Amino acid sequence: MKLKIQKTETLKPRPKDSELSFGTLFTDHMFNMDYHPDKGWHNPRIDPYHAIEMDPSTMVLHYGQAIFEGLKAYRTESGDIQLFRPRENFKRFNQSARVMCIPEIDEDLALDALKQLLIIEKEWVPHSLGTSLYIRPTIIAMDPFLGVRASHTYRFFIILSPVGAYYSEGFNPVKIWVTKDHVRAVRGGVGYVKTAGNYAASLFAGELASKNGYTQVLWLDGVDLKYVEEVGSMNIFFLIDDELITPNLQGSILPGITRDSIINLAKVWNMKVSERRISIDEVFEAHSAGKLQEIFGTGTAAVVSPVGVIKYEDKIIHIGTGEVGPVANKFFAALTDIQYGMKDAPEGWIETIAPSL
Ligand SMILES: *Cc1c(COP(=O)(O)O)cnc(C)c1O
Repeated sequence: MKLKIQKTETLKPRPKDSELSFGTLFTDHMFNMDYHPDKGWHNPRIDPYHAIEMDPSTMVLHYGQAIFEGLKAYRTESGDIQLFRPRENFKRFNQSARVMCIPEIDEDLALDALKQLLIIEKEWVPHSLGTSLYIRPTIIAMDPFLGVRASHTYRFFIILSPVGAYYSEGFNPVKIWVTKDHVRAVRGGVGYVKTAGNYAASLFAGELASKNGYTQVLWLDGVDLKYVEEVGSMNIFFLIDDELITPNLQGSILPGITRDSIINLAKVWNMKVSERRISIDEVFEAHSAGKLQEIFGTGTAAVVSPVGVIKYEDKIIHIGTGEVGPVANKFFAALTDIQYGMKDAPEGWIETIAPSL
């Protein structure tokens, strides 16, 4: 399939790196492709960035049949643009597609299209360390129909947004709120899928946490309300008695690529790493015994987000000294060094896009 390219005549003004925030501003072009049962995925194209016109009955608006991905393009010191494990994102995108009854895409075609889009938008990849161009591939159900079933037609698009350094105000530990009144995902549900509804379902608890002065919700499992699952929309790690522990992937946890990368690095560094169930009681007991060293969340946006305070029922604990722990720091440095091309990456983790093409 040939990629059609139509360029815009009017370029948007580009902000300075220091003015960037997250998710507010989009580049000049986007990728689009459509699905029809008779044609399959067809008409891949790069167009000027534009609004999508849709009938008010369009299925995605009513029943949330939508999946997305999130990854970033990084500018290296020599000016190259590189992607971090992008094939993992398109693989996970297709896993999400299968669960949500959306026809799978050709992963190579999607990655090639993304690279072409990035070449066109290369000036939008900011230069300062910590900044990046956030990439949002999305598929939405497009049938104008109010019955509940899988749509027959879909739109796949990729939009790009320049983002500022996540830690522009310093790498400070956050406060998290453990809730037993709300769950993010249930057994047999879609917690392991990057699908729109999971985020809608997380908003209410997030607002409550925020009203009480906490940055994120720590989610417990939906069956026993006992085992830790994720923090906000990040995976979670604990360092207890020099064992690095993260909940195992059992269906309600999103398989983060940052999570997987950290497990990989920890193994290379000969740390003791366990993917296993960990109860909130174990965390509090480890703290009482003086063995809870660090807690941090992981995800593409923040890379590593250290946790300083946890509130669970009427107990509040402070982790470590209130400063970022050495292990969280070491993972943050190692991953960002790889992403910005300052250190060699494990085989296959980096794909470079030559901006001179
Ligand atoms: C995207 C996401 C993550 C992190 O995944 P990365 O691939 O590391 O960015 C974790 N939890 C949830 C719920 C997510 O949506």
